[in-house]
Amino acid sequence: MNYQSEYLCNKCGGLIYINVKTKEECCLNSSCSRYPKLIIIDNSKEVEKIMLGRIEDIKKKVRFFSPKFKEYLFDLRENLFNNMDKGINISFFHALNELILIVSSTSLFGRIDSIQKFDNVVQEFIQIAELENFLDSLQQKVNLMGKITLSDKDILTFQLKYFKAFIEQYENYGLINYSRKDRAFKFETIDVQEVDRIPFQIGMEMTPFFKQFFREMVKMKMLLEYNYRLSKFAKREFKKREIAGLVSIFFSCRGKKMVWDEASFTNHLKRNEFTDEEKKFFKNFIFGNKDKFPIGLNYLGKNIFYPFSTLFFAFYFMNSLGEKNIVNECKREASLRFESEIRNYLKEKSYSVPFDGEIELIKGSYKYDIIAISHIKKEVYLIEVKYCDLPPSGFSGLNLRTIKIEYNDPDSSEVKIAEEHEKRLSEFSSNISIFEKMANCSIKDYVIKPIVIMKYTPLLNKNNSIEILSFDKFKESY
Ligand SMILES: [Zn+2]
Repeated sequence: MNYQSEYLCNKCGGLIYINVKTKEECCLNSSCSRYPKLIIIDNSKEVEKIMLGRIEDIKKKVRFFSPKFKEYLFDLRENLFNNMDKGINISFFHALNELILIVSSTSLFGRIDSIQKFDNVVQEFIQIAELENFLDSLQQKVNLMGKITLSDKDILTFQLKYFKAFIEQYENYGLINYSRKDRAFKFETIDVQEVDRIPFQIGMEMTPFFKQFFREMVKMKMLLEYNYRLSKFAKREFKKREIAGLVSIFFSCRGKKMVWDEASFTNHLKRNEFTDEEKKFFKNFIFGNKDKFPIGLNYLGKNIFYPFSTLFFAFYFMNSLGEKNIVNECKREASLRFESEIRNYLKEKSYSVPFDGEIELIKGSYKYDIIAISHIKKEVYLIEVKYCDLPPSGFSGLNLRTIKIEYNDPDSSEVKIAEEHEKRLSEFSSNISIFEKMANCSIKDYVIKPIVIMKYTPLLNKNNSIEILSFDKFKESY
């Protein structure tokens, strides 16, 4: 192992877990010498059984509700989307979407229409969603349970030590599991682009329109792929036309809930040049089925659409569109703003920062994001900036090491990022005179320190000579 990490076992390199009660750190790899006296128990099957049972109970209960319950749920979800900027409770979001899925494949024939009773069911489902999230965390090995001996009554709970870095990222996008309405999200000013709001027209190039909403696109992907169950209900087949259809409905809504009869909806699609086959496909796409939760509401002969629900689902599908990844393009732009924030910080701290953008020492060779100099300490800092989110699949004890260490991706593998920086360091060290000429200063006998600054807490602290840290940590030491 060339790396150092406070999150990995120093014996076997496996992920460190924390005993939730005693806060003790341990390695749960049974072939490691650091493995505690422990029997891991897998009760996820039982948890799943309880959860599915409770969902069945809800299904039986809502049959006695009046059809108004459907609209009540859609109204609540719209309200949630409309207030996304204040932070969003993941369990509530999950509960609403799954309830919407349940009621759209159930015929409600009852008379119960008291808001109190409606709300009770929603609250009950929030608890089920929390159970689902817990189950997912067991299956993904974010949490694990164990006993010292089989006859023990006490069950010990362990949590991935790196879990706090997951929370960091969720919180930054305003995804929370408890209500906290007053947050200012950390990277908001860096991610949000100062662009004029671009009006939408059918047939237009959609990239500039969606670029304005890049944070929302990332947020929707994180929300809808928060756990396996939710992502299964969200994912569906679509093409660019479906996204254009969603955006056109958003604009037709003009900020309000909109009710169309069958003819008006069909006409709208016709005006937007949907063929008969495309119309049929789009209706399935937007109204879902028993496995896909609906985006719009189709009941009692009405087609009801909500502006923010429609728009946010358009964000989700836009982010999942393979052919052109707008999110990546926006991240590159945000990354440049992040770099300039780091440069400003260094200047404030009286470091010399000779260049305002990335440079090359040798044409066509390595690019250097930031170079800073301390003439007092006689040190040069070669800084590589990685402004990247962990993909939804990485929020897992099963995949985390693969993505951050084994996988060869130049954006998410910290080992790979460090190895690349090692090569940069070597090129820089043998071309110091070129740098001195470009920067118009002498760095003779200065120590060169290679650093990688990440958006969030990295899994590794060091790989070979490369120091890896978040901007917050960087500010503590530099
Ligand atoms: Zn170990």
